[in-house]
Amino acid sequence: MSTHDTADCPFCQIASGSLHAEVLYRDGSTLAFLDRTAVTEGHTLVVPLTHAATLWEVTEADAAAVMRTVHRTARLLREVFAPDGLTLFQANEPAGWQDVFHLHVHLVPRSTGDHLHRPWTADPVAPEQLARTGRRIRSHRGPAAPPPTGTARTGRPAPTEQE
Ligand SMILES: [Zn+2]
Repeated sequence: MSTHDTADCPFCQIASGSLHAEVLYRDGSTLAFLDRTAVTEGHTLVVPLTHAATLWEVTEADAAAVMRTVHRTARLLREVFAPDGLTLFQANEPAGWQDVFHLHVHLVPRSTGDHLHRPWTADPVAPEQLARTGRRIRSHRGPAAPPPTGTARTGRPAPTEQE
């Protein structure tokens, strides 16, 4: 995990009003604005007002607030543009294709047959490999470890932690 300078963070500047953006929505903890490099009409970014570089650095509360605003903005974009689809994109760190180091979620309204392409092709993984990966993650005992009594296997939601 790397840290990034916030002094010239463009999304902090948009949040503070010192840099112009076409703002669509704002609440106490998030902001939605048009991407100035929009790949389709209505391409929007949702960010937390409090600087956090990546999903690993943002608080759980701000992450939840961002997703709430993503949900609201998705409904708004559907009402305005009636797109055939919508693609969400969220990148972390350069290896994950992140370019601006303030957490953001892209909402890209889609039309059937538009010019965008999937970033990868999907091929089935051997079940034994998936089983090994599953065991590795479930046996982890760090701070974000899954609950030990099998709730991760049952599909029931894990207990909510209080901050
Ligand atoms: Zn920032």
